[in-house]
Amino acid sequence: MKPQIKNIRIDSHVHILPPRRLSALLRWIIRANPAHPVPADITAEMILSDLRAQGVTHFFNFAYPLDLAETGPINDFNIAFCAGTPGAIPFGSLHPDDENKPEIAQRLFNRGCVGIKFHPFVQKFDPWDKRMEPLYDFLEEAQRPVLFHTGFEAFYRMQMPAAKLEALIRKHPRMPTVFVHMMFPEIERAYRLLEEFPMLFLDATNVFAVFRPEYKPMLETFGYGSGLRDVLFEGLCNYKGRIMFGSDHPAGMGSLEKIYGDIENFGLPPEAINSLTVDAPMTFVKSFTDDFSSLFMDGIPTAVESGARAANALLSGAGPTNDILIPCANKVQGGND
Ligand SMILES: [Zn+2]
Repeated sequence: MKPQIKNIRIDSHVHILPPRRLSALLRWIIRANPAHPVPADITAEMILSDLRAQGVTHFFNFAYPLDLAETGPINDFNIAFCAGTPGAIPFGSLHPDDENKPEIAQRLFNRGCVGIKFHPFVQKFDPWDKRMEPLYDFLEEAQRPVLFHTGFEAFYRMQMPAAKLEALIRKHPRMPTVFVHMMFPEIERAYRLLEEFPMLFLDATNVFAVFRPEYKPMLETFGYGSGLRDVLFEGLCNYKGRIMFGSDHPAGMGSLEKIYGDIENFGLPPEAINSLTVDAPMTFVKSFTDDFSSLFMDGIPTAVESGARAANALLSGAGPTNDILIPCANKVQGGND
């Protein structure tokens, strides 16, 4: 499948991390699923090349701290990496123990991050944790988005009840919020929330993969038949503009080729696919930033090749990517605070 409009395809969920974190992530995934087709020693350049092979021109890059000391370095990495990688769009993160969360978030936005991404299961906190309240109040005022991993509780053997998530956005209805993975399997409830909360968005990352024939017995074990597939399908057609699609590469469900094959094989009308992979994520980014207009100019497929060069330089310790002359590298301002 080729990208639909202006040759743009946006992947709303990618994890390019510092080498140590990348290899830890892959080792963890491969332990959980020895058949995971991504090599444990995958590099940023290899991920970029996989993305390019699937026609991805832009992607949201997520990197989050696992402990308090990592907040600074992991955000520095992501911002520098994205600054040197045309089409790479950074999202910052924080640790629940960070003090002064609003100030940290504001600095991240000043340096080009679009929003804040959390993986509460991996970062070991509840989204409704009281420590997060000052951040949510700030994001509501600043009109910047927060993205939460939601759903797939059985896989993580942890709980994040949909009712608690609903209560959170009810408390902060103006906070732009993305429920990544659509609270899977609570897709129907997620759609109902879209009706009620105009600032809520969904991200269908990993959701299509579950409907591959090989997972049918597992779905049935959990009590979900073809009804859930129909629910998913209908909402993707009805809520165009509110739902994005990402791969979770290199930690997604299979090779990138297989993951993009999932959307193609789902039988969606072209305009629904286009909304997932172009219109919804582009509108999302544009709604919350004013310095990304150059990202989506006509005529760009941006040069992921130069991104690979920049990544290479960055990861081999060649210094800040600002020194590398590549198009669009000026989209991230500052870089030292
Ligand atoms: Zn992810």
